[in-house]
Amino acid sequence: MFYSASMDVKGLANLKDKMRRIVSFSLPILKARFLKRKIPLFVGWELTNRCNLKCRYCGVAHAVRGGELDTQRILLMVDGLKLLGTRFISFTGGEPLLRPDIGLIIDYCRQKNVFTSLNSNGILVKQKISEIKNVNCVCLSLDGAEEIHDSIRGAGVFKAVIEAARIIQRTNIPLKFFVTLTGINVNQIDFLINIAMEYNAVLVFQPSVQNKLYSNEVNEICLSRAENEMVFRQLICRKRRLRKMVIANSYMNLAHLSHWPHPRYIRCASGHITGRIKSNGDFAPCNRYALQTAAGASLSPMDLKRKYLALQNISCEECWCANRVELNLLFALQLEPIINSIRYLASNKK
Ligand code: SF4
Ligand code: SF4
Repeated sequence: MFYSASMDVKGLANLKDKMRRIVSFSLPILKARFLKRKIPLFVGWELTNRCNLKCRYCGVAHAVRGGELDTQRILLMVDGLKLLGTRFISFTGGEPLLRPDIGLIIDYCRQKNVFTSLNSNGILVKQKISEIKNVNCVCLSLDGAEEIHDSIRGAGVFKAVIEAARIIQRTNIPLKFFVTLTGINVNQIDFLINIAMEYNAVLVFQPSVQNKLYSNEVNEICLSRAENEMVFRQLICRKRRLRKMVIANSYMNLAHLSHWPHPRYIRCASGHITGRIKSNGDFAPCNRYALQTAAGASLSPMDLKRKYLALQNISCEECWCANRVELNLLFALQLEPIINSIRYLASNKK
C-alpha cells in the first residue's frame, strides 16, 4: 500500500513536471507568433566539424573548417542564449562526442535549466556515458540491419550503435534513432521499428537528398523520387497501426517529406523560434542558409541578441530535414503536430 502510494506521488510529480515543460515550450511559441517576438527557443549547435566516420551520404570530412570555440566561449554563449529565452539546444556535429568538454557543456546547460539533446553516431557513447548522463535525450544514427548500416557507415559501426543503445537504455536517458533514408535502406522499416521497440526508443525518419550533407558533392545513394514517396506513404500506414509512440515524425511531417524533391511551401520558423550555431560560433537561421550567417562568436548576450535579431525572416521550399519540418509545423500552430509532440513528451521517461 505504502509502495503504491509513493509510486502515485512520484507519477504525479512526473506528470506535473511534463506539463510544466509543455507550457514552458508553448508560451514562447505563442509569443513569437502573435507578438512577433524573435526568441531562439530551439537551437541546433554544431559543436565541431570533426567526425570519426565517413558516411557515404555525408561530406563533413571535406567541409571547410571554420575553427571551433573553446569551452569558455561556449559557456558564455549558453549564458547569452538562456537570457534570450532558449529552452532547448540540440548538440550536433560532425561528432559532438569528440569534444573533450562535452559533459561539462551539457552539465552547464542543465544548471541553466536548458534542455539538451545530443546527436551521435554511437561510437564513443560507451567511453563517454558517465560524462553525458545529464543530457535529456540521445539521438543515435541508425540506417538498418548490420550489413546495411555498415555498408553506409563502415565496418563494426552497427555493433557500436546497438551497444550504445543498450547503455543508454540502462541509464534511462530518452533515446531516438535518426534514420536517413537512402536507396539502400528503403526496405528496412520493419527492422527499424522492431529495434526501436526493443530499446524503448523512437524513430525519426528523413530522406537523404541529392547532395551529401555539408557539401555540394553528389550523394550517389539518395532515394529516387518514387522510392521516397513509397517509403513515406508506408511510414504513415505503419504509424497508424502502432499504438505506442514509435515513429516520432507527425503525420503532417511524413506527408511533407513524402513530396521530396518537389518544392513545397512550409511556414519557416528560422529566425523566429529557431536558430543554428556553427562550430566557429556564427549564428545562422538554418543550416541551409550559410550566406545569411551572422558571423563570429558572441561573447555578450547583447551581441548574441543583435545577431539573432539580424537574421532575416527566410523561407524556402526545400525543407527536407525532419526536425526542422516538425518545428516549422509547430510554429505554424498545426494541431496534429502539436498533439504528436505532446504525446512524445508525455511518453518520455524523463
Ligand atoms: S553523417 Fe554524421 S557520423 Fe556520418 S560522417 Fe557525417 S557527421 Fe559523421
Ligand atoms: S530548410 Fe528552408 S523552410 Fe526549412 S527551416 Fe531552413 S530555411 Fe526554413
